[in-house]
Amino acid sequence: MGGGIIGLSLALELRRQGAEVLLVERGEPGREASHAAAGMLAWCDPHSPAALRPLIQASARLYPEFVYELAEESGVRIDFRREGTIAFDPGCPGMGPGVRSLTAEEISALEPSLIPPKLPAEFWPEASVDPRTLLAAAIAAARRRGIKIVHGAHATEVVIKEGHAAGVKSDQSLFAAENVVNCAGAWAGGLKAGVTPVPTRPVKGQMLALIPPEKDRLRHVVRAPQVYLVPRSDGRLLLGATVEEAGFDKTVDPATIQRLHRAATRLVPSLAEARILEDWAGLRPGTPDNLPVLGTTSLPGYFVATGHFRDGILLAPITARIMAQLIAAGECEFDLAPFSLFRFENEGQASRRNPG
Ligand SMILES: Cc1cc2nc3c(=O)[nH]c(=O)nc-3n(C[C@H](O)[C@H](O)[C@H](O)COP(=O)(O)OP(=O)(O)OC[C@H]3O[C@@H](n4cnc5c(N)ncnc54)[C@H](O)[C@@H]3O)c2cc1C
Repeated sequence: MGGGIIGLSLALELRRQGAEVLLVERGEPGREASHAAAGMLAWCDPHSPAALRPLIQASARLYPEFVYELAEESGVRIDFRREGTIAFDPGCPGMGPGVRSLTAEEISALEPSLIPPKLPAEFWPEASVDPRTLLAAAIAAARRRGIKIVHGAHATEVVIKEGHAAGVKSDQSLFAAENVVNCAGAWAGGLKAGVTPVPTRPVKGQMLALIPPEKDRLRHVVRAPQVYLVPRSDGRLLLGATVEEAGFDKTVDPATIQRLHRAATRLVPSLAEARILEDWAGLRPGTPDNLPVLGTTSLPGYFVATGHFRDGILLAPITARIMAQLIAAGECEFDLAPFSLFRFENEGQASRRNPG
């Protein structure tokens, strides 16, 4: 249930293992958070939660093959770039091999049009991907592999038979299944299953894309405290992103877009004249501790894979792999205890007992 990058990647992995897979999507697949993402594969980021690092690093290692297979199978060209990131960070060193600090001369050799802020700078050997090309490839590959995608079906509850998940009900029909996986992103808490609801919340992110002058095109992702800049191979440059607690609201605020544009202009002055192609907002699936929710639930046959917050594009390949292992074999190669839905089990009860 849920046709974002997480649901699609897991559907593909389960199908590879021979399962029959039905993807139930409320709207069109791949049009929510996954469509809105910048696509940085930020495995060197020192600010990512420590508990998540093993998954982040494993997923980054899987990425080249993940992209290659999807492109081969779908015939869709995926914009996957491996130029690396120039990160300006007020203190923390980046993580992992290949991270090195940069002098002003090195920065201007890497990106001549960049005016570096007065902050320590590092090179992070990260890749980035255009999530829209990735989603197009995943949808085409899913169809090719015989995954049935039902769109326009809003799943409302898990069907339970003899204490086991037996499918999902939507506003229009009932879909029978031996196992159900909730991959509904920021909306995951809306699916009734008679167990602890998945405590995801929407965390809004606004972004814009523009076309910089040809002479000032960036090669690297640039991360600064007020804005990040992510180049695409077709010449677009994406600027992002806000992190806002605004409920399920996806309106774009022109003043916020201008603020991001101005912050980027301080880094690359010619961006002031660049034409804005598009602006948008998406809803990241956040959780109370900002860690994903991955694994089993107290209802046999009902699983959850969501809450990937700012790293869902990066974490898609490893999420698909471990969830498919868990569904097929009842165990997987990582300890999922930190990501278990059970960590939230007593919260609802506690707040009911202490309503203040
Ligand atoms: C501005 C922005 C920038 C980002 N940048 C990055 C980045 O650089 N790198 C990175 O790794 N991540 C990034 N992210 C985070 C990333 O986009 C998310 O973590 C990821 O897309 C989550 O994927 P998902 O499949 O769980 O959710 P979604 O893509 O939101 O998919 C969930 C799907 O479930 C469907 N659904 C919901 N409810 C129901 C229902 N009841 N029945 C049926 N279907 C339902 C929805 O319609 C949707 O298609 C960014 C996010 C934003 C908003």
